Amino acid sequence: MIIDLRSDTVTKPTKGMLNAMLKASVGDDVYKEDPTVNALEERIAEMFGKPKALFFPTGTMANQAAINLHTNPGEQVICDKYAHIYNYEGGGASFNSGVSCKLIDGHRGMFTAQEVIDNINPPEFYHSALTRLVEIENTTNKGGGACWDFSELEKIRKVCDANGLGFHLDGARIWNALVAKKETTKQYGNVFDTISVCLSKGLGCPIGSVLVGDEDIMQGAMRIRKIFGGGMRQVGYLAAAGIYALDHHVERLEEDHHKAKELAKVLNDATFVKKVEPVETNIVIFELQKDVDSEAFISKLDSKGVKLVGMGENKLRLVTHLDYTNKMHTYVLDLLSDF
Ligand SMILES: *Cc1c(COP(=O)(O)O)cnc(C)c1O
Repeated sequence: MIIDLRSDTVTKPTKGMLNAMLKASVGDDVYKEDPTVNALEERIAEMFGKPKALFFPTGTMANQAAINLHTNPGEQVICDKYAHIYNYEGGGASFNSGVSCKLIDGHRGMFTAQEVIDNINPPEFYHSALTRLVEIENTTNKGGGACWDFSELEKIRKVCDANGLGFHLDGARIWNALVAKKETTKQYGNVFDTISVCLSKGLGCPIGSVLVGDEDIMQGAMRIRKIFGGGMRQVGYLAAAGIYALDHHVERLEEDHHKAKELAKVLNDATFVKKVEPVETNIVIFELQKDVDSEAFISKLDSKGVKLVGMGENKLRLVTHLDYTNKMHTYVLDLLSDF
């Protein structure tokens, strides 16, 4: 038995999902003639109360398209130093859109409206890059699955309005935040101009992200997706997985969160652990004691059939997901308590 806790992207489609995929009616999506893709886009747009949605192969491409739609070359994006768009998208913001990132030294990947204000370059000061966009992540990936306080997001929205800035949400794990905080998709649609959501993380699809947004910003979305090489054909088979996941795999995220909290509890009591980050959703980040070598620890667990990843600075990450069963969970809890 291999227990893979490296990420919530390691899941394989369930039988139910595969059946839904097989039954999908499809067409050429570049001509917008795929009824299942159209249905998925309409459904997600409706959920967030936005007029437009577009299906993308990856979350990275959806975020990169959003950055491109909001900005012009030479301008600047404000984001946290932990941001996925800055750390894990291959430098795409500068490569694809010619923009720089102004990094906020936030807390667990999150920051305040005041910190946004402090990081806006004065528009009349033509020596510095023109600030154009604020980007945040919910939940935060490198921040350990932390959820934003919604009232802070509303404050940042006001700052964006007052300064003519766009506001983009990287919602790769927005479903986890919604379930954990009992928030609604409409709330988020009201606050952000654009939102990218992943179907291939907690929701268990093999592929797929959707970018939703307002009419004016989304106008160029089809073109930029084409330029990025993301125009796809009979991908209703993939969109069908997304529709299935929205029906069956959202509420159950609560189980992943519960398991993550139980893992954190065992780790908190373990002598080899220095510190466990607070667990709010499905990600557990913990730091080993100084005298415990993280590489050795990872390979020791690997030899017991459990996979996890290092995050640097002697920190490790566990992510719970759809394919992490109760039986596996019992095994891992026992393994960690006796380690
Ligand atoms: C996974 C992830 C993405 C997108 O990843 P893809 O692998 O390109 O789908 C974007 N943002 C965050 C925070 C993520 O965790």
